[in-house]
Amino acid sequence: MRNRIYLDHAATTAISPEVLEAMMPCLTESYGNASGVYATGREAHRILDRARKQAAEAIGATPPEICFTSGGSESDSWALIGIAAANRGKGNHIITSAIEHHAILRTCEWLEKQGFEVTRLPADEEGRIRPADLEQAIRPGTILISIMAANNEIGTIQQTAEFGKIAREHGIPFHTDAVQAMGAMPVDVNAWQADLLSLSAHKFHGPKGTGLLYIRKGTRIDPLIHGGAQERGLRAGTENVAGIAGMGKAMEIAAAGIPERAARETALRERLKAGLQAAVSGIRINGHPTNRLAGNLHVTIPGVDGEAMLLRLDLAGIAASSGSACTSGSTEPSHVLEAIGLTDEEIKSSLRLTIGEENTEAEIDETIRKITEIAADLRSMRDF
Ligand SMILES: *Cc1c(COP(=O)(O)O)cnc(C)c1O
Repeated sequence: MRNRIYLDHAATTAISPEVLEAMMPCLTESYGNASGVYATGREAHRILDRARKQAAEAIGATPPEICFTSGGSESDSWALIGIAAANRGKGNHIITSAIEHHAILRTCEWLEKQGFEVTRLPADEEGRIRPADLEQAIRPGTILISIMAANNEIGTIQQTAEFGKIAREHGIPFHTDAVQAMGAMPVDVNAWQADLLSLSAHKFHGPKGTGLLYIRKGTRIDPLIHGGAQERGLRAGTENVAGIAGMGKAMEIAAAGIPERAARETALRERLKAGLQAAVSGIRINGHPTNRLAGNLHVTIPGVDGEAMLLRLDLAGIAASSGSACTSGSTEPSHVLEAIGLTDEEIKSSLRLTIGEENTEAEIDETIRKITEIAADLRSMRDF
């Protein structure tokens, strides 16, 4: 896969060498079940303890507040369903936003079928949710607020600390999906006053199939997965020791060096943006101009079919995305792009390029050249 240019870091990232190194012993000699009282079991237990400490330190939490899961989707589903179930007696109203990941939105739809009521806050043209809208939506019987920290499609960063403050003032549990934020910006459960927070390891150079839900001490939540006493009885199932060890290491790395990483990725993004703006007429940038994830560039190229562009880029050895990875493959227009006011035509002409730390200036320049060439070609075919 060398010589290929990977610009889809919002979809997933490669496992880093240090993470792999942390995982390997768990897949070979330290194979014990962490519940076992014998030596290999105790070793597995120690590995879990270390990872839990690494994870907690990376986000300003304490180790008992970390519950390992199978990833971002499970963490999101659990936060919503677990809080809804534990607070049924108090009310049935949940507040979220229109631009959440499907793991949140589909769970909300399911909860509506169970009798809960869901308010979806709108986003402005730049993808921001207004704190005043949250304030207005709160009512007696609101049992949960869930608003993502940064958007996976357009990269817009929310005013998460504001939402946390409002939620705390009203005594309502606040959950944030910080899957895209980890490693790209500071993630601090106290600065945000988050009561619950979802992360997924494979979005920051950890393994796929491992995530966590941060649950603030004192938060009442029901389990989603029932069975054994793992994760303090909150999440049953024999622990994915290798995955968790990898996630712990990945979190330690992700939390360190954020300013340097963000500066480097911002410079590459601005280079890509300026290059495309100079070469492709009519191109538009989506999302917030400054409050956005460093590596995220989202564009609309009028007159160019996004799917056709993706296929041609793939042939040229460049991996990008036309929306969220979960929606491509289906023909459904992105709910995020709809929410920020793009027309169906504009949505079909959109492209997401997400930069990671291993990308180079040469790769960015090559990408500008290819997109320019393909856009001209696709436009001439259309005009023919
Ligand atoms: C990727 C992603 C998820 C889902 O995480 P998985 O570990 O792939 O299930 C949830 N929310 C956001 C914002 C994401 O980007």
